[in-house]
Amino acid sequence: MADREQAFLIRFWGVRGSIPTPGPETVRYGGNTTCIEVRCDDVTLMIDSGTGARRFGRRLLRDQPTGTVRIALIFSHLHLDHVQGFPFFAPIYEARTHLDIYSATPAESTTQGALDSQMAYPSFPIGLANLAAKLEFHTVERDGSFEVGGVRVSTCPLSHPGGSMAIRIDHRGKSFVQASDIEHGDGPAPELVALSRGADFLSYDTTYVDGEEYERHRGWGHSTWREGLAVARAAGVKRFIAFHHEPSHDDAFMDRVAAELRAADPNAVVAVEGMTIDMLTGDVSYEAREPETS
Ligand SMILES: [Zn+2]
Ligand SMILES: [Zn+2]
Repeated sequence: MADREQAFLIRFWGVRGSIPTPGPETVRYGGNTTCIEVRCDDVTLMIDSGTGARRFGRRLLRDQPTGTVRIALIFSHLHLDHVQGFPFFAPIYEARTHLDIYSATPAESTTQGALDSQMAYPSFPIGLANLAAKLEFHTVERDGSFEVGGVRVSTCPLSHPGGSMAIRIDHRGKSFVQASDIEHGDGPAPELVALSRGADFLSYDTTYVDGEEYERHRGWGHSTWREGLAVARAAGVKRFIAFHHEPSHDDAFMDRVAAELRAADPNAVVAVEGMTIDMLTGDVSYEAREPETS
């Protein structure tokens, strides 16, 4: 059994794009927007702070009731569905939290500004400057690499209004790539193929389905699972994950997407809120939702 010293876990706390979609028709795939937890041994990373960050934050504090909570938050970009859970990420209200924030927006002030503006008067009662946690902002390259607690993180730019970046995390010989938000061009983007080369998992923006739905939203900055599979195949990725579900795609629609995707690639999976990947074994599991306590 892997102990805490040897871990590489990916947990999806939010898999929806654009806007949260709570309700009975999305309860199985989930309604929270982008937030992914990445655990590399004792290093805790998170990709984006969409509304999934709220439950993730509560879990973190519950699991670590005392002592320093150190988290590295890496932003793919700063669109609302990737930041709007930040004010409700409970660790930011604890003095024992040290949050390193990595973002590729042109200047630190832009990232700070994006987080601050949604918390500023009259939108929210507590401003970014009044948080108990220690926040440290880091500007990174969209086409580069950096280390967090010894964990290698590599990036590449993605075609998306305002820009976005793919994030590859390598740990203990395994690799996970998160590539959202992206609009495909003519064939797989060479930078993304290069970044994803030989990865164990590629989670990719599959907001739309090919055909009329994609055509109606051409230029909106999103892609389809067929285009994503082409990237995965070109890069020799072992398993493809369909991610960033369109708000109108309810559970019945997503079941059809999943069936079509698996017909094209039996190894592919559709991201589900609460889905966990043990990167060291390759096991994908689905957590039963826990009822919330106060
Ligand atoms: Zn998005
Ligand atoms: Zn976006």
